[in-house]
Formats: sequence, C-alpha cells, structure tokens
Amino acid sequence: MLVGAQHSSNKLDCLVCSHCFCYIGSIELQIGRRLYLQALRLSRHKETTFESSSDHSEEDCQVSDEDNNSHVTNLDKLQSASSDTNEINLIPKEIIESLMNGGLALPYSKQFPLPSIIPCPGGCEEEHYCSKLCAEADWDLYHSLLCTGKGSSSHTEAVLKFIEHANATNDIFLLAAKAIAFTILKYRKLKSTNLIDQKRVNGMDDSSFSLLMEAWKPISMGFKKRWWDCIALPDDIDSCNEESFRMQIKELAFTSVQLLREAIFDKELFSLDIYGHIIGMFELNNLDLVVASPVEDYFIHIDDLPCLQKEEAEKVTRPFLDALGDDYSVCCQGTAFFPLQSCMNHSCCPNAKAFKRDEDRDGQATIVAVRPIRKGEEITISYIDEELSYEERQALLADYGFRCQCKRCIEQV
Ligand SMILES: [Zn+2]
Ligand SMILES: [Zn+2]
Ligand SMILES: [Zn+2]
Repeated sequence: MLVGAQHSSNKLDCLVCSHCFCYIGSIELQIGRRLYLQALRLSRHKETTFESSSDHSEEDCQVSDEDNNSHVTNLDKLQSASSDTNEINLIPKEIIESLMNGGLALPYSKQFPLPSIIPCPGGCEEEHYCSKLCAEADWDLYHSLLCTGKGSSSHTEAVLKFIEHANATNDIFLLAAKAIAFTILKYRKLKSTNLIDQKRVNGMDDSSFSLLMEAWKPISMGFKKRWWDCIALPDDIDSCNEESFRMQIKELAFTSVQLLREAIFDKELFSLDIYGHIIGMFELNNLDLVVASPVEDYFIHIDDLPCLQKEEAEKVTRPFLDALGDDYSVCCQGTAFFPLQSCMNHSCCPNAKAFKRDEDRDGQATIVAVRPIRKGEEITISYIDEELSYEERQALLADYGFRCQCKRCIEQV
C-alpha cells in the first residue's frame, strides 16, 4: 500500500493504527469508546436535525451546492446517526468510562489482546499507532507534514482548515494530501542525499526536477484522468447538468488545493491540475480498505462458550452488546491506493484478483492468481463485477475512460 486512510465517519466506530490499520487498545476500549461516541453523536444529532431539514427546497433540475456536495460527501455520518436514534443507550456513563480507562475488564477479553496505543510523535490527538515502528514510518512518509500537534513544524492552523474542509466535503482529499506529502518528503530526502553526493544544486534546475520526478514515480503509476473529468455522474443528476456538476467538483478541488497549499507548501509545486489528477487516480484505482473487527470475534467467542460459562459471561457482556446495537461488529473502513494493483489492466476474464483475506488484520491487500498464468502473460484484474452482462460491464467501465476489448468482450459483441 502506498497511501491509505480510514473514512472520517468510520473513525467514530473503531480505533485503529493510522499506519497499518490494525485495531489497537483493548476490546474494552473499543466497546467503551464506541458507546461513548455513540451517545455524543446522538445528542449532537438532535441539535442539528432542525437545521438540516429546512435545506431542501431546490427545484428538481437545478444542481444546488447542497445537492451537489452530498454525492461526494460524508453525509452517511448523518444517515448512520439517524438510524440509531431509536436505540437508547442504557449503560451508565461511569461504566463506559471505566471500560475506556481500563478499570473494568470483560470476561475472556484477555484472549483477544490488542497492541497498546502509541501516540503520534508530533503530539496530535488525531493519529494513533500500534507500535513505534508504525508511528515512525508514518511520520517519515507523510504525517510530519500534516500533523497538527505541538511538536510538528507544519502550519497547524492551515492544516486544520484543510482537514475541516475535507471532512465536510470529501475525505478523498485527505488521501490526496497524503500522496502529496509523501512526494514532497521523498523529494527532500532525495535532494539532501544528492546534495551530499554532488554539492551543487541551485534552485529548481534540471537535477532538482529529475529528483522531483523520481519522488513522484510511485504516485504517477496511477495517473490517468482528472477527477472532475472521470468522476461518475450520480444517478440523480440529469445529463443536462453534467457540465455544471463537473464544474462544481472542480471548484471543490480548487478550494481544497488552496487550503492544502497554505498548509504545507512554500512553493507552488502542485497545481490544481496535478491535484485533480491525484484525486482522479484515487477515484479510479482505489481499493476499499476493510479490516475485520476483533469486537465481532469477541462476541462470537462468548456466544460459542459452553452453556454455563456462556450464561455467566453474558450477564456482563449482554448489556454492552445490546447497547452497541445490530452493527456491533462494524469493521474498519477506508480507502487505499496500492501502486502495484493500480497499474494492472482490467479484463472481464482476469487471471488474478486483488483482495483481502479474512485472516488479514491490517490494511494489506493481496493479489492472487485465479488460474495458471504463463510466463510473459500480462496479469489482469477486474475493476468491476465480472458477472454482469456485456452492456452493464461496458457502462461501468466507461467511468474508467475505456471500452473493454478483452477476449470475452470481443466474443460477446
Ligand atoms: Zn500499525
Ligand atoms: Zn500527529
Ligand atoms: Zn471485457
């Protein structure tokens, strides 16, 4: 994986390492934190319901700002909040707190140990890690430019503004920022080693430019189309409004890149055009990042205990399970970009598959052959559900900007 990020809305549901995405803390902390935030979300939701319901008086065929943004935003936060409004959190606040601070231990939870939490070396409250190794790697690769903690050298205020905008509009911007931070940091490293080697670099001369291109290489593998050109037109947007929709997406990216520039750049290394390409790359190449929840494993374990033990354990665990509700097992969800996977071409009869195994408890993805592959044969994966009909496949692939001409498609024309 080159860059990955947990969805902002999912951060409320589970606490994972910001670098490898494995669950951290303890089963108690995961449950307690979720119940705590759930209660907080409920009380906030009640306050905002009145404000947001008055915003829907636009004409059908008009793309209002509000409507437009909602297709690409994190509004699912609100939706998921509204689905739990009926649940009443019966667990007293003190109990939730003692779950979170380690005062209360749940039965059998020792069998599901999680790595303890390592804070961000820059001192921000946003990122947490499973190990010193992950914390340091993340800091070196991206986070030192994006950290809002006291120990970071970045323009904290500006970074916060950028993050706020991304959270309110589309968290794909956070992933793009990581890709840009990665490139800048790598460029700086290359430049400093190069300086030692050559002792001559004046400003942005040819050798600096080639170093920048070198730093940029892993990202450029996925470089295809600009975001506003490749984003799929949402179903409820009439094609007569396509142009204005794409224009608004472009404006959204423009605002975001301005904010990001203020946050981390002193020079204009990245234009709107390049930014658009980076986000476009995520739009076309991203792989969902999913990590299964150990909380689910824990409750399944309790459920599978022999009768007597189960009864005993459930006296303690049942109220928590009830309070968590149906989606007690929410997994870690996000988006990630895997350079190797992103340079594989599509085929409707692919010879390989990119996926995550059930036993994978971190953000890694695996590419496996689905049939024997001859030496020299191109490795292909399917970008879409290959069970669909020829017409449906071509329609979906049009969003990626090509007509598929794989063996199967040629046969089916
Ligand atoms: Zn980790
Ligand atoms: Zn930080
Ligand atoms: Zn095909």
